[in-house]
Amino acid sequence: MPESPKLLRLLSAAVGAENVLTDPAVLAASSHDTWPVSTKWSRRGEHPHQADVVVRARSEEDVAAVLRAAEEFGTPVTTRALGSSVTGQPLPTRGGIVLDVSGLTGPHEIDEIDMTVTAPAGVNGGDLEDALNETGWTMRFSPQSLYRSSVGGWLATLATGQFSSRYGGVEDLVVGYRVVLADGAVAELTASPRAAMGPDLRQLFLGSEGTLGIVTRVTLKIVPLPAVQHLQTFLVPGVGAGLEIMRDQAARGLRPSLLRLYDTDEARHAMSDPDFDGTVLFVGTEGEPETAEAEMAVITRIATGRGATALGPAPVEAWLGRRFDFSSVEKRLDTPGGFAETIEVAHTWRHIEGLYTDVRKALEPLADEVLVHFSHVYPQGTSMYVILLGQVEDDAGASDRLAEIWATTMQVCLDHGAELSHHHGGGLARSPYSRRSLGSAHRVLRRVKHALDPEGLLNPGKLGL
Ligand SMILES: Cc1cc2nc3c(=O)[nH]c(=O)nc-3n(C[C@H](O)[C@H](O)[C@H](O)COP(=O)(O)OP(=O)(O)OC[C@H]3O[C@@H](n4cnc5c(N)ncnc54)[C@H](O)[C@@H]3O)c2cc1C
Repeated sequence: MPESPKLLRLLSAAVGAENVLTDPAVLAASSHDTWPVSTKWSRRGEHPHQADVVVRARSEEDVAAVLRAAEEFGTPVTTRALGSSVTGQPLPTRGGIVLDVSGLTGPHEIDEIDMTVTAPAGVNGGDLEDALNETGWTMRFSPQSLYRSSVGGWLATLATGQFSSRYGGVEDLVVGYRVVLADGAVAELTASPRAAMGPDLRQLFLGSEGTLGIVTRVTLKIVPLPAVQHLQTFLVPGVGAGLEIMRDQAARGLRPSLLRLYDTDEARHAMSDPDFDGTVLFVGTEGEPETAEAEMAVITRIATGRGATALGPAPVEAWLGRRFDFSSVEKRLDTPGGFAETIEVAHTWRHIEGLYTDVRKALEPLADEVLVHFSHVYPQGTSMYVILLGQVEDDAGASDRLAEIWATTMQVCLDHGAELSHHHGGGLARSPYSRRSLGSAHRVLRRVKHALDPEGLLNPGKLGL
């Protein structure tokens, strides 16, 4: 339903008429993200989740004014930053306002003593990382979407990066942030270096996908650029042996920056060799020369003890050079009837191999290629990332197939008691499974939601809310 002229006038007065957009092309563009299901809708000219108005915010005051106006009119607000979500997180399921926060940009501040950087939430993560590198610092936070995602988006989605095994996810990166609540009030959440004055409220908005508040400014940890990096590729006897190597090194408290285990199907792509036949483990250690060398020596001992053979650093170096490349998925989605999907889940060491076997078995009939890797390692378990590539007759068939892939994967994961998302979040893709995934904890989420957003206006229809 189109927004009332009175609301549009109020929004224009708050942020400037040039930032209140009702042009159909703008509305259509903001009704998609990078979720393959949404990409297929877009190719077919379908916009099932479309806003009535897009409002561009340039400052925290803009965000607060928009939320106050929305509350007055009972209008839903779905926040959108750089739209790199791959699960439909920023799609406005009930129309209303899409609040575009990609304009929350501006200078950042580096504190070299406390080792932090503070930046507006809409800043492109890759731009910030490049600027830090020029001064000898790094966040060492590197999602594959580094150059197409915002720092505020990282918090809102509980993102993680390719070096997480050493540096952790965004929950380890964040020092503090400012957030605008549904009624326009602003809160600053910080605990530096640590605080025990009640619960750590910084966790509350991490992964909340714009359903609890809008992040406007973030302070993140930085570290000096690592002095050295050691890389190695291991041919391992199989996925089971590879997982054991990963678990062993975690048990010994090692902190490699890179640990990526590819099953035989994905190894052909990882090694850029269509004839390669084997399971491979990519390893990187970094930091001070002595510790990086020592950590690589211990991992090599563990790996060779489990039957692995070192193949040299070249494949890992080549992968590092193309680690932001997503073109194989994008090209496939851009083909009539082509489909591609990436689904990341997690499980404990005890159960991960069984999950791998059953997910593969269930998905093989649904795609031409099923590729699996394990790339974020914790003392208790690991992530599992599945890539599916395939071709059917037309885009309608591709949409149906993607729906079947999601339903199948989520059901196998539920049956195994696995975590349904490791880092891409709930969005529309997983909202129907949120309650089953969280169990009794979903009641806590619902009560938090009710307390912070009693009218249910912020990003409705996500996380099973
Ligand atoms: C090629 C590719 C590779 C990817 N690789 C990774 C990866 O390695 N690791 C990973 O974790 N993710 C990855 N992603 C997913 C995605 O990039 C992340 O989820 C990212 O954090 C989203 O940021 P964004 O700025 O694009 O947010 P958007 O897509 O615009 O929004 C995502 C969600 O966050 C909310 N949101 C955004 N900004 C704010 C804010 N300031 N305040 C409150 N809510 C907000 C939105 O409402 C929405 O629910 C990848 C995506 C692509 C396309």
